[in-house]
This record gives sequence, structure tokens and C-alpha cells, in this order.
Amino acid sequence: MPELPEVETVARDLRGLVVGARITDVRVSWSKTLRSQDEGAFADAVVGRAIVGTSRRAKLVVLDLDGGLDANEQPLPDDGAAITIHLKMTGQLFVVREAQPEDPYVRLVLAFADGRELRFRDIRKFGRVGVAWRDPATGDLRGELGGAKTFKGFGPEPLDPGFTARAFARRIRTRRGRLKSILLDQSFIAGVGNIYADESLWAARLHPLRSAQSLRRGDAARLYRESTRILHEAVLRRGSSIDDYTAPEGDGEMQERLQVYQRAGEPCRRCGRPIRRIVLGGRSTHFCSWCQRLPKPEQAANATILKGMEPKPGQRFVAEDGSEIRRGPRWTEIGGSDGALGVPTGSTRRASGTARRSPGAGRIGRAEQTRRAAATRRAAARASQRATD
Ligand SMILES: [Zn+2]
Repeated sequence: MPELPEVETVARDLRGLVVGARITDVRVSWSKTLRSQDEGAFADAVVGRAIVGTSRRAKLVVLDLDGGLDANEQPLPDDGAAITIHLKMTGQLFVVREAQPEDPYVRLVLAFADGRELRFRDIRKFGRVGVAWRDPATGDLRGELGGAKTFKGFGPEPLDPGFTARAFARRIRTRRGRLKSILLDQSFIAGVGNIYADESLWAARLHPLRSAQSLRRGDAARLYRESTRILHEAVLRRGSSIDDYTAPEGDGEMQERLQVYQRAGEPCRRCGRPIRRIVLGGRSTHFCSWCQRLPKPEQAANATILKGMEPKPGQRFVAEDGSEIRRGPRWTEIGGSDGALGVPTGSTRRASGTARRSPGAGRIGRAEQTRRAAATRRAAARASQRATD
């Protein structure tokens, strides 16, 4: 599912395409795409208004609207109205000429006065479009058409300059539960999902099942530093084009830089041991059980989840030349000593990261097949939306 960097990219790509466009008509072909499920009310709220800005809040694309025009074509006062779009699993946005044939996966269309259309294409139909109003005092989204409360409880934006390491540490200290679940909780910080939670925890060398309560000051600081660094880089690289995510101006390239996400069984890029996969709260979680240690006192409470770990612990690994690998670099050699588990500071020499191969490497083939199929789907989606003129 598109997360902060992907949604940010979509919002930025749209800016040059839709700002200034006035909405003249709305077409909805799947009524559940509308949060209010009320096409008449949605059209009343947006038709006649122009888009004046595009931005992102959490995982929502936000299209800010002007106040519209009165019967004499005079501008009405700005009331802070905005269209919100949650892409969910397969949502895509394209701006095309109205003459462009519409494919069967287009669920909602905003027609513009200049003869173009913004089309919301969504194969799996989980995406949602709504109308909301900004609070004049804070500028944040609040009331919503249909009375839904989508934004209630959104946490701070991790890339907001005001969201400091200190603010992060203060926030996480009050939390109970496992780190992975906390990072996914939109009320903790907004916009982080499965991909960037796994990547941040691997980079910070923190086990996804570790409890927030056990974090030391250095751990929280490292998690803040690594998560913001990764999110910044992902925005620069236009997000990770995994599955159906593509932006109006094309795919992202962050997928090339991911270290653990969907790499189960492949060697950890820090220590060479296989990346593990567990299921936590119905979501796949990827980590390195060597670089990301679970403190002893927490192991018993997580035994059931860890039992489902793949590849299994103790599974033997062989190097490229067929010899069995008995020992990888020591914990201190992979930089695991600077407080990650509260052990005294020792050598932090980085391991050379020897590649090793898992005997159960069949998974890699499937993962690669899935990636190729998704790339084909994205290319087809873009081709079907390419302007014909
Ligand atoms: Zn590792």
C-alpha cells in the first residue's frame, strides 16, 4: 500500500497538472469509492470549485479547493474545503484529456473546465475519496462530508521540521506494545506503513517485536534518525513501486534501495544471514534476527509469533562454493554494540557482508515473479491512460 513517500510523490506530481483546474462535473462508477457514498452531496460540495493546491496528510492526497463562484461568476469566500483521496492497495491517479477512452477500473472522475479529467483508477476498490474542511486556526483537516472521522487522531508528520528527535522520544516513551505495531499506528506518527516500518527497524537494529518500554535513550534516537532518513530518501526517489503503486509522472525507484522488505530468505546486507519473515497482526514483518536482537526477557512472550518465523532458525546455510557457513560476523562487528541492546561499547567494525545463499531459495523466485507481474500491471495502467493527442 502506498505510504508517506508514495503519497507525497502523487501529491507533488499532481500539483503541476491540476492546480488552477475548475471542476465542472463528477462521475462515480463505484459508489463505495465515495466515503459519504452520496454522489449528489459530493458533486454539490465540489462542482464549480477550482483546485488551488495539492498536499498530503498521513496517507491521504489532499486537493485544496477555492470557494467556487456565485451566480454572477464572482468568487465566493474560501471555506477551507478539500478533496481527500486514500489510494489504499491499488489506487492510481491520472490526468488525461476527456476524449481518452476510460478503462473499466476507473471508479471516479473529476471533469475540468479545460477539457481534461482527473481519473481515480482502483482495481481492488479499497480506495476512498471524500470531502473535508480545514480548521481555519490550525490548517489541519477536521469535519468531513457524511460525518466520517477519517483524520481524528492522526499523529504528527514525521518529516515535519517541528517533529524533533526529542518529540519522538517523548512520544514513544508513553507507548506500550511492540515497536512494529507502534510505527504502523497512525496516531503515533502519520504516514508510515509496512514497508518503511520494517526498513526503519532494520536500519536502527531494533527487533520489530521489541517493546517500546525497553528502549533506551540511544535506541529511540537511532530509530528517529533512521526512520526520518529513510522517509526523506524515499521521497527523493519517488517512493517504492511495489505492487500497483505508480504516480502521475511515473514509477518510483526506492524499491531498489529496500534492505529487508519482501527479502525473506535473502542475505541480510549487513551480516549475510537470511532475512526472516513473521506475521504480526496479519501483516508480514521482515527483519534480521541477528542484527535485530530481541532482549532475553521478551523472548518468552513472543514465542508463538516467532514459531512462525521463516526461514526457520537453525536452518543450515551454505556459501556460494558449497561450504557450510558456521559463523557470521560477531555482534560487535556489525555495529551492534552502541547501545542497541544496552551492552557496553566495544568495537564497531563493520562486517564485509559476505553473500550466502539459503537452500530454500525457491521463495526468491516467487517474489521476483510477483514483482515482474506488478511492473507489467503498472505499465499497462500508464499506457491505458496516456493521452492520445
Ligand atoms: Zn543481519
